[in-house]
Amino acid sequence: MIKKPFVTKEKLQEIIKDYPTPFHIYDEKGIVENARRVKQAFSWNKGYREYFAVKATPNPYIMKLLMDEGCGFDCSSYTELMLSDKVGAKGQDIMFSSNATPDADFRLAYKLGAVINLDDLTHIEVLDKLTGIPETISCRYNPGGEFKTSEKGNVMDTPKDAKYGFTHDQLIEGYRLLKQKGAKRFGMHAFLASNTLTNDYYPVLAGILFRTAVEIKEKTGVSLDFINLSGGVGIAYRPDQTPNDIMAIGEGVRKQFEEILVPAGLGNVSIFTELGRFMLAPYGHLAATAIREKHIYKEYIGLDACAANLMRPAMYGAYHHITVAGKEDMSCDHMYDITGGLCENNDKFAIDRMLPKIDIGDIIVIHDTGAHGFSMGYNYNGKLRSAEILLKADGSYQLIRRAETPEDYFATFDFSKEYNFKK
Ligand SMILES: *Cc1c(COP(=O)(O)O)cnc(C)c1O
Repeated sequence: MIKKPFVTKEKLQEIIKDYPTPFHIYDEKGIVENARRVKQAFSWNKGYREYFAVKATPNPYIMKLLMDEGCGFDCSSYTELMLSDKVGAKGQDIMFSSNATPDADFRLAYKLGAVINLDDLTHIEVLDKLTGIPETISCRYNPGGEFKTSEKGNVMDTPKDAKYGFTHDQLIEGYRLLKQKGAKRFGMHAFLASNTLTNDYYPVLAGILFRTAVEIKEKTGVSLDFINLSGGVGIAYRPDQTPNDIMAIGEGVRKQFEEILVPAGLGNVSIFTELGRFMLAPYGHLAATAIREKHIYKEYIGLDACAANLMRPAMYGAYHHITVAGKEDMSCDHMYDITGGLCENNDKFAIDRMLPKIDIGDIIVIHDTGAHGFSMGYNYNGKLRSAEILLKADGSYQLIRRAETPEDYFATFDFSKEYNFKK
């Protein structure tokens, strides 16, 4: 698949006059269309809902777009709960899937009426003491072992090494205990593999969870109200990868539903998802400018963006496709390392990447940064977080977060009082 930016060089030049690079830019049209496809893929299920994983792109304007498409929010922390509240999410519009959860976070989730998705058996007592057990409650399941796709038997991930969730036996005990403590509506959640690039992930996961739901019903008398397949549906970061087909994924889950849940009298179970990457990643770019070049043992292009704006290449060695704006049709006959300016040799957006000849001042578009991009940003080396811009469906653009300034960086110090350097 040829990867093309969703924004032209001319548009970027226009935006840069108002807001200099680097910035993350999001494609409203792409986000909305994709959200509708996801909803449609699961429309066979009466109670279906996507709870957008806020950590992927915690921006209220983006969240509002998704809320208008019917999404709720999956939060993992105190501030993400606050953010969802500010955007206008109410009560069970919020899923709270957290781990090693502080008391204050449990309290706020309870106060907002969010669905609390417990990460551990011991959290039942903790929550009971803090706030009491809410009527609606969910448990996160970790089946252990290795997680394999059905067809090829590929190992997708190893849940036994993951810190999350209840074991099988704890799960059964957990629902018994929660029922005893007065819970009325029950959910189950699991997240077993990340950034999967196969239409099998959700259906295989659904099969495991649906069979477990039947077992829970038999052993505890608890009929689950919802099953949350969480996140993990990936995207094609590389041009040679085949993107997931969300319609096929929805259909695969439906088959499992009809084979396993319906005959067991659990045909009213609602299916929830907590997609982050799939909802947003392809609909964001990091736009940067080539500001320096080096010709040493290799050819380098230095950008005004760095790993503090997009950590995935440095952290995971992740591939992000790169386009030189306006040079889409030129042949890729130059090999470059594309770097940021951190004092860290892993601050490279691309290594040995074949690209058109890059000139200083060229606008560099780094693809698929709409999820887990800006949000993983940090301030190492005193670098500042960039602006975020929304490219609207009508071609206009809106600043949806300003760039940080040095004042933001210094905001947590109080030079006047504590240090008194300027006597
Ligand atoms: C990170 C996360 C998600 C979203 O994952 P994606 O890979 O972005 O789809 C969903 N649920 C939970 C609990 C998560 O931690």
